Amino acid sequence: MGPKLEAFKKRWAEYEILNQTLSLLSWDMETYMPEEGIKSRAEHISYLNEISHGHLTSSKTLSLLEGAESETAGHDYYSDEAGMLRAARRVFEKESRVSEDLVKRLARTASIANSVWIKARRESDFGIFSGVLSEIVGLCSEKADMIGWEGRRYDALLDLHEPCMTSAVIDPLFEDLKSFLVPLAADITGRGRQVNTDFLAQNFSIKSQEEFGFMILAAMGYDLKRGRQDISAHPFTTSFSPYDVRITTRYSEDSLLSALFSTVHECGHALYDQGLPLDKLNTPLCQPVSLGIHESQSRMWENIVGRSRPFWNHFFPEVRRLFPGQLDDVDPDSFYRAVNRVEKGFIRVEADEVTYNLHVFIRYEIEKSLMDGSLSAGDVPDAWNEKYRRYLGINPPDDSAGCLQDIHWAHGAIGYFPTYTLGNILAAQFYGKAIEDAPAIPGETGRGIFSGLLSWLRKNIHGHGSKFTSEELVRRVCGTDMNTGPYRKYLEEKYGEIYEL
Ligand code: ZN
Repeated sequence: MGPKLEAFKKRWAEYEILNQTLSLLSWDMETYMPEEGIKSRAEHISYLNEISHGHLTSSKTLSLLEGAESETAGHDYYSDEAGMLRAARRVFEKESRVSEDLVKRLARTASIANSVWIKARRESDFGIFSGVLSEIVGLCSEKADMIGWEGRRYDALLDLHEPCMTSAVIDPLFEDLKSFLVPLAADITGRGRQVNTDFLAQNFSIKSQEEFGFMILAAMGYDLKRGRQDISAHPFTTSFSPYDVRITTRYSEDSLLSALFSTVHECGHALYDQGLPLDKLNTPLCQPVSLGIHESQSRMWENIVGRSRPFWNHFFPEVRRLFPGQLDDVDPDSFYRAVNRVEKGFIRVEADEVTYNLHVFIRYEIEKSLMDGSLSAGDVPDAWNEKYRRYLGINPPDDSAGCLQDIHWAHGAIGYFPTYTLGNILAAQFYGKAIEDAPAIPGETGRGIFSGLLSWLRKNIHGHGSKFTSEELVRRVCGTDMNTGPYRKYLEEKYGEIYEL
């Protein structure tokens, strides 16, 4: 490795260390910080953010980056050096093109929008939120124009969450899936057999839920010497480096499944972060590819593995043991069906595998229209409700169960939603390839063993860090482009069988 690349890496490591420290402050804020702590914590975070942004976008960083780029100009496109500098260049461009003034205005508006959104949601009145949403859309448009875009302005925002992805690639994937999922959901709820979930309506000891959660974490291969699990209002995963990747969950006595599946989901995220290449620590490569790839990991574990029949054949006896007398009349198969029950609901985060993406399409279509100006903020509730009627056949009773349910837009995170469905599509593609390479995986799941799947993921996905874009990674791993085939097949077979279609 040449001296210029070395000098650049040293500079970049400082930026990573600042960001890791920032993540620790945010994690603490969500878990242990006392209520009044926010008064000084907000200042800590905003000051460190400023330093980190300044460090990255400084002329010194740029000249070291340019030096390293010219030094490695002849390297193979897929070499670590070239991949590392491409990843760094992407981050640098995104951060440096947006003016500091706009960053501050966005942060200020988003913090106002957050409290306005809470009030609007509580009162179930979109009118309260409409004005500030319109401001957010305006600021996001300015941001997109500063970053630059070719096809659609929306693409600049999408790229912040899914680097190098465009709506031109996503649109046909989503349209294809929509034409399949709308009739499937209608079929299941219309003529499918009944799935009984009555036995889930009981109180389940939180201590036993916790014990079960840790049993699953250990089985999945989550390294507790490099991580921990705490409680927070909304479950999340945060990584300071592959040496310290933390997850959170939340327990509720009357819901056995909520903590359980949130634990499996977050663990899927955490396994990815723990598996990033340690020999690339503090370089631009020791990062996940994108939100879509991250979500492909969490959803593969949660849905394809965690909601599978072999998984419950193995773990249901443990559940019965941990909650004595509560599930004696239930057999593993009934439990398997219950955890896969399909229901047309209003709330995205409570949705099952079949209807989940329909919730995403609605948000994706609305935010694209907001960004191209064909929809104004004030018209969001009508557009929202009309799409719920069309895709799900249900009519949201009010704004709080409708267009005010998600916090994303209040945070200025336009372009985030499609990564959830990309994650679902990719999870099926990756898993299909994993069992083709290692056919023992489903049998191992039935014995509570996940080392085969994890080592496949480590080798094929986690270990590359951010060397490839999501499209490059899929092509490399699966030998095809992103496509909905494996996901459709997976849903069709699984739910066709459960609902006897
Ligand atoms: Zn997730």
